[in-house]
Amino acid sequence: MSNAHKLVIIGSGPAGWTAAIYAARAQLDPIVYCGVPKQDPGPVLPGGQLMLTTEVENYPGFEHGIEGPEMMERFRKQAERFGTKVLEHDVERCEFSSDPAHKPHALHIDDGKVVHAHSVIIATGATANWLNLPNEMRLARSGGGVSACAVCDGALPAYRNQPLAVVGGGDTAMEEASYLTKFGSVVYVIHRRDSLRASKIMQQRFLSRPNAKVLWNKVVIDVLGDAKISGLLLEDTVTGERSTLDVKGLFIAIGHTPATKFIKNTGLKFTDKGYIDLPTRTSYTNLPGVFAAGDVADADYRQAVTAAGMGCTAALDAERWLAGAGMH
Ligand SMILES: Cc1cc2nc3c(=O)[nH]c(=O)nc-3n(C[C@H](O)[C@H](O)[C@H](O)COP(=O)(O)OP(=O)(O)OC[C@H]3O[C@@H](n4cnc5c(N)ncnc54)[C@H](O)[C@@H]3O)c2cc1C
Repeated sequence: MSNAHKLVIIGSGPAGWTAAIYAARAQLDPIVYCGVPKQDPGPVLPGGQLMLTTEVENYPGFEHGIEGPEMMERFRKQAERFGTKVLEHDVERCEFSSDPAHKPHALHIDDGKVVHAHSVIIATGATANWLNLPNEMRLARSGGGVSACAVCDGALPAYRNQPLAVVGGGDTAMEEASYLTKFGSVVYVIHRRDSLRASKIMQQRFLSRPNAKVLWNKVVIDVLGDAKISGLLLEDTVTGERSTLDVKGLFIAIGHTPATKFIKNTGLKFTDKGYIDLPTRTSYTNLPGVFAAGDVADADYRQAVTAAGMGCTAALDAERWLAGAGMH
């Protein structure tokens, strides 16, 4: 099909933009579908998960840190500078071809159009799950002390020697809480039941820290504070009694939801946790001409720099695959 694109990139976080920079410079004329704002299940914005944070201090090259939204704007401009075409739409459904060199993949866009592409990079990320408390997102987006990523934000000066709280009871919550014990004066794990889901070894790792505390049978009802978090309103799940807890940081660690709904039942393989399965260290999925990059294919690291690295890998893989198929 002559009007098919060589490469379509789905997603506009660090992975998607990095793939676009490489692909555009390699003259693949990439199209980026950058997505539209939605709730799925947490807030999803064009620009990705970094749109929900203020200071990014751990991305190399920004010695004094940079605000997440500004960083993503710069990524986008860099991709556009080399000729990337950006379309502000969601891809709603994909029909992947078993022979995309001859019969391209068909992507169904939210405006009713169907777009064809010989190769596709899926970089749709994984949405952090939030509690949906009345004041949670306001204080997350303003840098007011609420975050869904302890490894990203825990080392910020505002959290040093302050009481911090983590919500969650799985291995990730224990890992995030253990990490925070390096910085906080005390780290409370708030858990709705009287036992943790996390493996014994991960629980032990957290509980062995002198500043670790678990608050059993408690749920967070809301975050208190105007510009900055001052505490939490808690409710006891057994007695219903309400109380407040003074903290200067709240870290939500109740998992992520990979953005894969639109590619279910396409023949694409997923891991047990629902991430796109990449059987090798490359970005190749199990389908020809379909590549994946970033958090949508990475349950382990979920960082901007790893997502960007995977975006680079995917663009190089797509370029080589297109060349091998005689299309570039
Ligand atoms: C609160 C918070 C703070 C963080 N702070 C840091 C930090 O300081 N440093 C750090 O390294 N990492 C940080 N992270 C992690 C970092 O944001 C992610 O690792 C990174 O954004 C993943 O990049 P990605 O490109 O894979 O996906 P994302 O950034 O999630 O981007 C996915 C993109 O796909 C789009 N999309 C989704 N579905 C569709 C569709 N069907 N069609 C079209 N587009 C679609 C979305 O709109 C979005 O643009 C933080 C995360 C959170 C939640």
